[in-house]
Amino acid sequence: MKRILTLTIALLLIKSAVAQFDVIIRNGKIIDGTGNNWYYADIAIKDGKITAIQKNFTATATKVLDAKGLVIAPGFIDVHTHIEGDEAKTPTADNFIYDGVTTVIAGNCGSSKVDIGKYLTWIDSLKLSINVASLIGHNDVRKAVMGRANRDATAAELLQMEALVEKAMQAGAVGLSTGLIYIPGTYSKTPEIISLAKVAAKYNGVYATHMRDEADSVTQAIEEALAIGRGANIPVEISHFKLSGQQNWGRSNETLPMIIAARKEGLDVTIDQYPYTASSTSLSTLLPGEILADGQDSITARLSRPEIKKQATAYILKKLKNRKLKHLSYAVVAYYKADTTLNGKSIEAINLLKGRKHKAKEEAETVMEMMMQGGASMVFHGMSEKDVQQIMKYPFNMFASDASIRAFGEGAPHPRGYGTNARVLGKYVREEKIISLEEAVRRMTSLPAQKFQLKNIGMIKEGMNADIVIFDEATVTDKSSFEAPHQYSVGFKFVLVNGKLVVENGKHTGVRSGKAQYGLGTIM
Ligand SMILES: [Zn+2]
Repeated sequence: MKRILTLTIALLLIKSAVAQFDVIIRNGKIIDGTGNNWYYADIAIKDGKITAIQKNFTATATKVLDAKGLVIAPGFIDVHTHIEGDEAKTPTADNFIYDGVTTVIAGNCGSSKVDIGKYLTWIDSLKLSINVASLIGHNDVRKAVMGRANRDATAAELLQMEALVEKAMQAGAVGLSTGLIYIPGTYSKTPEIISLAKVAAKYNGVYATHMRDEADSVTQAIEEALAIGRGANIPVEISHFKLSGQQNWGRSNETLPMIIAARKEGLDVTIDQYPYTASSTSLSTLLPGEILADGQDSITARLSRPEIKKQATAYILKKLKNRKLKHLSYAVVAYYKADTTLNGKSIEAINLLKGRKHKAKEEAETVMEMMMQGGASMVFHGMSEKDVQQIMKYPFNMFASDASIRAFGEGAPHPRGYGTNARVLGKYVREEKIISLEEAVRRMTSLPAQKFQLKNIGMIKEGMNADIVIFDEATVTDKSSFEAPHQYSVGFKFVLVNGKLVVENGKHTGVRSGKAQYGLGTIM
């Protein structure tokens, strides 16, 4: 009898010492990512998965998180990022983590590693704090086969490009991306892209595009994106959907109905946006495409010829006139490698600093001079708040930062890399009531997961990976601004990636539990 009692006590002691779960989150409001209303329940996590969701859960856990007064949501999925090149510099990916992002999709705007298999393996060996999926980028595929040549692909070259896309899709890419304003993507025509998109479609991929134009010819560009979707029978994602240039303000009245009509017709097209009225891209986008072929040496050589300079000046001035502006004041340098003291200054201001006249023609001269010195990354202030809000109201629009992993304090980058999601939740949900909290969370979670077919994330549901954010809906705020961009968002008290605490009590723990995410067509 005594022995039995001792044994029972010993078993009880073991039971209490070994917790049933790794983490239990108690007392929070769950917003599950589907768009359904919030509800109260406790969440139990074991081995990186959500294993139980129920009210007043009495089980034990190694770690108990109190989410009283807070929202518990799936980790946010940022469908449009450019992390390539910055992964190893800042593997903790603080700017994303502090903004609630637990998964990013890389390889956008036509720009990716060509060997996706190698890339994803490297991501896993590096160990980031975020999960990473990747598209295969058309520009890099084209460069690998035909360099920066300004011409159509030959039949043999097209076959080679198709083979590279096929290899990438088999190795885990989630789709094909294009960047049709960039070199050499801008030299390709629609049929080339359809051929490559067909290969991606065979492996359950999507077609994500930075379209040929987001300004005066935006409707033609949307037509092309939709034509590629039809021609290749592939779901389409239009990246950073916007109207650039003052002359195009209000035209979301034209562009959104095109998306709605295409969906009605049966084409699975969705869009994403960053919630700001300024864009960010390369200085080279101010110049005509012909000038940019074949790399920096060729650009420098072309721009030293007076007749080409004249042509480029006319092009810049015409664009400015279209915008109804007198100066390149809307174009602000984010990072200029040749002279970092110019970071944060507009072309108008830089031109004056150089002792030139306050004339657009001389500002064009300054642009060309900077291009000859290697170019710069820029912030362009050219969208209307009304269009941004109208696009935000469209239910099949997601949010995306279009950013990299930020090196804290470096350059004057667009604030979207720090604050995209917090800005939606603070400014647009709480303050301006443009969309509801549940709707915003759906667009940040289950909608992108469905679009990119990431089956184990995007919802608070038993069996899903435990990527979870816990935030205060009353205080969540983006702090990053154009003037002072290097500021993390606030309001996220806990962030879990694959069941591990990456943010605890508002501070990054240094934990790097992110994993590479593989597309549905992967052949291991
Ligand atoms: Zn882009």
